[in-house]
Amino acid sequence: MAKLTINDIELRGKRVLIRVDYNVPMAEQDGAMVINDDTRIRATLPTLKLMIENGAKITLAAHLGRPKGERVPSMSLRPVADKLAGLVGQPVAFCDQCVGQAAEDAATKLEDGELLLLENVRYHAEEETNDPAFAGQLARDVDIFVNDAFGAAHRAHASTVGVANIIADRGGQCAAGLLMERELQFLGEELEAPDSPFVVILGGAKVSDKIKVIDRLLEKADTILIGGAMAYTFKLARGFGVGDSLVEPDKTGIAQAALDKATERGVEFLLPTDNLISRMKDGAWADPEVNNAQDIPDDSEGVDIGPGSTARFCEAIAGARTILWNGPMGIFEDERFAGGTFAVAKAVCEATANGAKSIIGGGDSVKALNKVGLGGQVTFMSTGGGASLEFLEGKALPGVAALANK
Ligand code: AMP
Repeated sequence: MAKLTINDIELRGKRVLIRVDYNVPMAEQDGAMVINDDTRIRATLPTLKLMIENGAKITLAAHLGRPKGERVPSMSLRPVADKLAGLVGQPVAFCDQCVGQAAEDAATKLEDGELLLLENVRYHAEEETNDPAFAGQLARDVDIFVNDAFGAAHRAHASTVGVANIIADRGGQCAAGLLMERELQFLGEELEAPDSPFVVILGGAKVSDKIKVIDRLLEKADTILIGGAMAYTFKLARGFGVGDSLVEPDKTGIAQAALDKATERGVEFLLPTDNLISRMKDGAWADPEVNNAQDIPDDSEGVDIGPGSTARFCEAIAGARTILWNGPMGIFEDERFAGGTFAVAKAVCEATANGAKSIIGGGDSVKALNKVGLGGQVTFMSTGGGASLEFLEGKALPGVAALANK
């Protein structure tokens, strides 16, 4: 059922607590932490602009990294407040606590349309244990809870679930932000009955991370293209040699079960038929070679799909009306092994320009698209990694379940 959103509720003068995903990559530069990629901050701007225009008093809660209940200075959200102020074009107050008197005083001072960012909720171990007293402090005097942190919605933490339950119990509203609404729309509703041909491209390191997604998508897809290291576990299940490639030998059974299900359901299930191979020498990768045989030589690793497989995959993508892509085709962090991933990225964008709906399931596929400068040229890029996968598996995400239905 569709979730209540911030478009459905009266916001003026209300104290609103918004859970956002500001878990941005940072690096130290001249003694200060600098944000390397502000995509996640920008992704919340539509929600924040609507809140500001409608005169809500806005408090933002978020986590950064894994400080495990300690005040780790490099994981402070302070730099995010400055960055956000620049993006939103108005001051953003920052409180170096997320609960307690200081946080309470800062929130009380807010006028309609003003913003406050609280310090990292994971400085308190009670966040991840979903401690009711901690959630109660976060919920103090809050009228409305909004969750716009899709990337954290698969965790039942105090700032995602505990606070929502407390506010709902006392009759307050709990709604999805605009980013959360879009994530649920594209990864959920749009894939319920996708236009055919529906082509799914999956890659990345492990079969075990994505087998449940594969299993669910086998119910809907016309074609599944498998690249990345996970292809080698499927190839091992089929009896091919995989050399030194990254594989999960104990997962060949589940791989075979997926192959059987594809045959039963008439889903075209394509594995790479050629590969780029390389080997580690003195701690560095040797230049890759094309391996046209189905078997990979014993002393080599498969590092990318080969040119023949790339062409075959791109042809399938070109004919798609709906595309879902999650995971790189090879070790794309090394330019020499990125050809397959980048070709898939371009093919997905070309198919989109020709009218296909393309949904990118977060993580490294988004990085790959951005690397080739094609980030904006797909229908939707998810901001969630683990959350996207769990949602695509069909699991109810606790942070979503805690929000009211329309
Ligand atoms: P995932 O998070 O499961 O999508 O995995 C992404 C990671 O898989 C990336 O860091 C890639 O470098 C890695 N990867 C993709 N293909 C291969 C491969 N053939 N061998 C080893 N690692 C790979």
